[in-house]
Amino acid sequence: MLNPKDLKFFCIRCGNCCTDRNTLVNVTYLDISRIIKGLKIELKESLEIFGFYVYDKALNNIILKKMVISPIETEKGLAFIGLMKTNKGECCFYEKKNKKCLIYSLRPMLCRSFPFSFIQSNNEDIITKEKIGVIYTEKAKKYCPGIDNDAPLIDIDYWFTVANRTLRELKDNHIFNEDWNNYVKNKRISPSAKNFIKRIMKMNED
Ligand code: SF4
Ligand code: SF4
Repeated sequence: MLNPKDLKFFCIRCGNCCTDRNTLVNVTYLDISRIIKGLKIELKESLEIFGFYVYDKALNNIILKKMVISPIETEKGLAFIGLMKTNKGECCFYEKKNKKCLIYSLRPMLCRSFPFSFIQSNNEDIITKEKIGVIYTEKAKKYCPGIDNDAPLIDIDYWFTVANRTLRELKDNHIFNEDWNNYVKNKRISPSAKNFIKRIMKMNED
């Protein structure tokens, strides 16, 4: 693994990460909450923005543990939640003409952290710089031209701050999704996309 201090990146705003057909723009429940609150949208509009993508392959515990964002139980099977895309693969919030994100200040955590992925070396609550690994994601290595030998070295303090927040939110999201899945297993809630969003909206009101 590269030393984070040796990582190079400069975003040239090519839009590849917002338009890749094979990339799901995953969201956590906190992303959903922020977008709903920030855009002041209701349930109906929310269901047009957030897609529930059912995974069509069997998922064993080893695969599940490796997933950055865990799937949730729905009436159609285990599903990942992501921003809706056009049939060309563009994120619904990508403005092609100006190559711009229409919800930049509300964009999901994984958009903020791209092209990096972060690894925490243990499960302690207090995360320090020494315990965080910063790496390029596999997707980014394939299509992000901002990763280039001629690009400047990254501002490591900035990226450690992003890493810290990302890791905390992913942990919270894992707990939230696990709670949901347990509610479904115990038949305490009907596993519809509508109910999942409603649950987040209810939290926003509290
Ligand atoms: S693919 Fe890389 S360079 Fe292009 S917009 Fe995304 S982060 Fe920036
Ligand atoms: S939310 Fe914004 S940054 Fe993220 S994929 Fe969509 S357009 Fe790109």
